[in-house]
Amino acid sequence: MRAAVFHAVGDIRIEPREVPEPGKGEVLVRVAACGICGTDRHILHGEFDVVPPIIIGHEYSGEITAVGPDVTDFRVGERVAMDPNMPCGVCRPCQRGQVHLCDNLTALGVNYDGGFAEYSVVPTAQCYKLPEHVSLLEGSLAEPLACCLRGIQQAHIQPGDRVAVIGGGAIGQILAQLARLTGAGKLVLSDLIEERRSMAEQLGYVDETVDPHTSDALLGWADVVLEAVGSVTTTQQALQWAAPGATIVWFGVTPPGDMAAIEPNLVFRKELTIRGARINPFTHTRAIAMLDSGRLNLEPLITKRISLDELPGFLAAAPGKDTKTVVIPA
Ligand SMILES: [Zn+2]
Ligand SMILES: [Zn+2]
Repeated sequence: MRAAVFHAVGDIRIEPREVPEPGKGEVLVRVAACGICGTDRHILHGEFDVVPPIIIGHEYSGEITAVGPDVTDFRVGERVAMDPNMPCGVCRPCQRGQVHLCDNLTALGVNYDGGFAEYSVVPTAQCYKLPEHVSLLEGSLAEPLACCLRGIQQAHIQPGDRVAVIGGGAIGQILAQLARLTGAGKLVLSDLIEERRSMAEQLGYVDETVDPHTSDALLGWADVVLEAVGSVTTTQQALQWAAPGATIVWFGVTPPGDMAAIEPNLVFRKELTIRGARINPFTHTRAIAMLDSGRLNLEPLITKRISLDELPGFLAAAPGKDTKTVVIPA
């Protein structure tokens, strides 16, 4: 089979590999689609701890083509989406039920070979069966969707709330759809890129979109702000857009070490709640249920499909305007 292997900073190669064999408690999956995420770029640029050589890619779905010894819950031919994150189960956060804060967290596509390959061996504990009418392409969005469900959990949206989503990439668009279903009374999405604003408008789940450069109409407006960019500017903007009593979720991953100037008095004056949201603690089952419900519209978020051969060049280039790019390995 062919696979995208990370060797060193700036060095990802497409290479031939033996098709791996599933061991005890594992299945072999023929990868149908694997989404590209900011983490993959961070790995390429040496901003994420991984031990090479490793097949990267962690947002994937596929069909089971073989099962290991003693596997009884899964069968050849079943379609699955992966939860890549594997907590250790023994550290203090894990034992307190906060598996997403695990001290020894590992993941497929980061510590173990992942989905930018024709085949992948996956422990059955990481596999979630896809309902019949959910496409494998949608299945590749189960992981980002599961992370967004954590973001929504942290946002505590009440029916009728004014909700602002900062950022119209795939994550911002998914958060906006979930915020709508959670009961947002008025929902505004902000992005610098016109294509992303019009995508949200055309898909019809936002009331309005704004260009943050030309609009300050949202100052003090939102009961809930979901920040989905991960920059110093937008985390500050989230505080500015917050209404008195608001909850802010800093969902976007700001680069480690970046510092933001904030006015602590603002947090006092408006009695703000600021929360983080990290990966997908026990949200994968609900992600599959949401795909099954048919109430999300996720496929249009996949604006580009590329082959394995195109992946190294794509990761090395600056991020473009596409909301979500997926690799179709075969
Ligand atoms: Zn990711
Ligand atoms: Zn742990």
